Amino acid sequence: MNLSFENTQNAFAYKSIGDLKKARFLFSVIQSPWVVNIATRATPLLMKSGLPINGIIRNTIFKQFVGGETLEDSAIVTKQLSSYGVQVILDYGVEAKEGEENFDEVTEKIIEAVNFAATQTNVPFVGIKITGVASMDLLETLNEAPRLRSGIHDSESENAAWDRVRDRLYAICDAAVEKGVGILIDAEETWIQDPIDRLAFELMAVYNKEKAVVYNTYQLYRHDRLHFLKISHQLAKEGNFLLGAKLVRGAYMEKERARALQKNYPSPIHDNKEATDADFDAAANYCLEHKDSISMVLASHNELSNMNIVQKMAQLGLSNNDHRVHFSQLFGMSDHITFNLALQKYNVSKYLPYGPLLDVIPYLMRRAQENSSVNGQTNRELLLIRKELARRKGKK
Ligand SMILES: Cc1cc2nc3c(=O)[nH]c(=O)nc-3n(C[C@H](O)[C@H](O)[C@H](O)COP(=O)(O)OP(=O)(O)OC[C@H]3O[C@@H](n4cnc5c(N)ncnc54)[C@H](O)[C@@H]3O)c2cc1C
Repeated sequence: MNLSFENTQNAFAYKSIGDLKKARFLFSVIQSPWVVNIATRATPLLMKSGLPINGIIRNTIFKQFVGGETLEDSAIVTKQLSSYGVQVILDYGVEAKEGEENFDEVTEKIIEAVNFAATQTNVPFVGIKITGVASMDLLETLNEAPRLRSGIHDSESENAAWDRVRDRLYAICDAAVEKGVGILIDAEETWIQDPIDRLAFELMAVYNKEKAVVYNTYQLYRHDRLHFLKISHQLAKEGNFLLGAKLVRGAYMEKERARALQKNYPSPIHDNKEATDADFDAAANYCLEHKDSISMVLASHNELSNMNIVQKMAQLGLSNNDHRVHFSQLFGMSDHITFNLALQKYNVSKYLPYGPLLDVIPYLMRRAQENSSVNGQTNRELLLIRKELARRKGKK
């Protein structure tokens, strides 16, 4: 096997020295948890106050992690990635913006993204956050009330609101199936996840008869999710449709633990990283072992987890570009994995959010927080960027 994640020349071929220096600066700054803590609190307020901070954000963290403010902006990045064999998952990054009008607008933007994806050779999927098309309160109510969970709603207005959410998703999936584009439904916090799982399942039963069009996301930092993946698979087999499974470790660990502590219920998150890693790899292996009925998106920056699946594909005699296995990393992170996989013809993408600056702030804050812990990504990103800068300097 020729694959190595060490090759920074491949990883950063699309970045100029100037880009790399900017990235080095950014990752050095967000390495510090206290800087990120202050920035997370102050940035939304400063942006609303009219202070000239937007330009700074646009040229630093936004440029690193986001495709642009519009679909046209992201089309430029999409094209650039295409020339390296890298695919794209487009994600209209507006989330938790309340109001029916906003939800309808986000729905239209997502359908626009689906139509755009169909015109490109390297955009197989569009991502969806249900929190962009449904109210948080509604999701939380549906999650909590046992009667609602069984689908029997207490309130007519909630009933109608949920029907509108379903209509939005059906409209998106109709467009997706017509255009041959896949839909990835993001996973959220545990206190709103049940209705999302239910809806994802309903959609898979309708749209995944011949190929996997709709994918649900499984957060393997939750101790119940490996089991849930297997149950989902069983139900899909019984329902005679294909399971679409996007596997992630999970983005809301601290929030989940804090809430469980505050409300005095057992934390839904594994006690340690090793347990999360073990479940993540077990889930990935399970999907691969059942590849005839599960299509998987392995969404991770973890080198070992990616390599595990690469090796397992070889053992099973699968071709590198088998359509049932797709790898993905967030735009702005782990280029050494993405570009080296692409060079070996694996199906691999960058998850590329786009949207108005103010609206993608929650996404940017998550990226900053994820990169700020000592055990986080930053050290590795910095090492790789420094290695590449040194390599280019040595060549002169
Ligand atoms: C393409 C893509 C799509 C994504 N979509 C979603 C999504 O829909 N929903 C979502 O929630 N996240 C999503 N994420 C983010 C993802 O959940 C992770 O936060 C992120 O990818 C880091 O995990 P890793 O596997 O890349 O790397 P690693 O660095 O190996 O793992 C870090 C992760 O391990 C877990 N972890 C760390 N410490 C501990 C501990 N002490 N105990 C238990 N677990 C621990 C946490 O989940 C942490 O984020 C997505 C990521 C990608 C790449």
